[in-house]
Amino acid sequence: MIDILSLTLSELSEQMVPLKQPKYRAKQIFEWLHKKKASSFEEMTDTPAQLRAALKLDFCIKSLNIQKTLVSDRQDTVKYLYGLDDGNKIETVFMSHKHGNSLCISSQVGCKMACCFCASGMAGFIRNLSPSEMLLQLYQTEKQQSPANCSSIVIMGVGEPLDNFDNVIRFLRLLESPDGHNMSLRHVSLSTCGLVERIDELRELKMGLTLSVSLHAVTDSERSAIMPINQRYNIGRLLTSCAEYYKHTGRRISFEYSLINGVNDGTEHADELVRLLSAKMSRGSFHVNLIPINVINEVKFRKSANVKAFAGILEKSGVAVTVRRTMGADINAACGQLRTTSFSD
Ligand code: SAH
Repeated sequence: MIDILSLTLSELSEQMVPLKQPKYRAKQIFEWLHKKKASSFEEMTDTPAQLRAALKLDFCIKSLNIQKTLVSDRQDTVKYLYGLDDGNKIETVFMSHKHGNSLCISSQVGCKMACCFCASGMAGFIRNLSPSEMLLQLYQTEKQQSPANCSSIVIMGVGEPLDNFDNVIRFLRLLESPDGHNMSLRHVSLSTCGLVERIDELRELKMGLTLSVSLHAVTDSERSAIMPINQRYNIGRLLTSCAEYYKHTGRRISFEYSLINGVNDGTEHADELVRLLSAKMSRGSFHVNLIPINVINEVKFRKSANVKAFAGILEKSGVAVTVRRTMGADINAACGQLRTTSFSD
């Protein structure tokens, strides 16, 4: 069965040839799938019944089923546990802000990267998500939240998006398709732990999205201790790649730095962060997003008491810095708390 939601419009047009359908038919079906969010061929009432029957033989429309929904105390965050067609589960988080709503989507079932502060990889890696499964997190959640919609997307849920490169790029192409959901990639942020070769590949595609890079430490030994990926791509290599990314795309890099009490939150860390970034990156080519660490059961890390002072040092040195507002921590929906196998235990 062909996963029809993962096909681009031109691929769908090719599929219409053996079915002897006029050209406009592909666009009509594509709009049913991506604009009207149809979940069955039966809904496509302006297409011939014979065609719908033929489509059902070769194509499937994937679906996500809601297994559980949790709403935060403040009512501003909703976490969905979605079941996939093969029984695997993923989490998606809807967040409402004053300026609009954003959606945090997962890119893999599980994760290989094993960052020690993050719950997403604790149960290992199971499989990549298809482009359709990423789109469906948006489509399904918007249906639930209707009439509210999502004005921005962050690919910061479970998984390392650049480890599922082709599917994530296809997802982005479908997302921005004018005949589909038609979302500008200016409203999309993709977060990576730093797969350098993939960052270089992404750079060549010159997409308008925001690249967020999980840095979290200022020396190789400290970064390797909490993020195993640093043994493959060290900080120097990562920052060189980030500088090149900015040079080619003109898009500012957002460096994520999760502050962990007594681990990476000292004054000396802040000073070194300024030095490191200033040495490798031009001013104005990046900003730093500080994330107060969110506690997960498996690790003994605690929240830093030094967030304000840390931010102050960066600011004073002229480094653009923001502190990420924690949302949904009470329902385990905050950064690093999303999982594959369980739901808020
Ligand atoms: N795989 C991607 C997306 C991860 S989630 C990446 O590594 O960037 C988005 C951000 O949350 C990343 O910066 C990640 O390092 C961070 N994060 C993970 N666990 C966290 C935790 N327990 N507290 C705060 N931030 C965390």
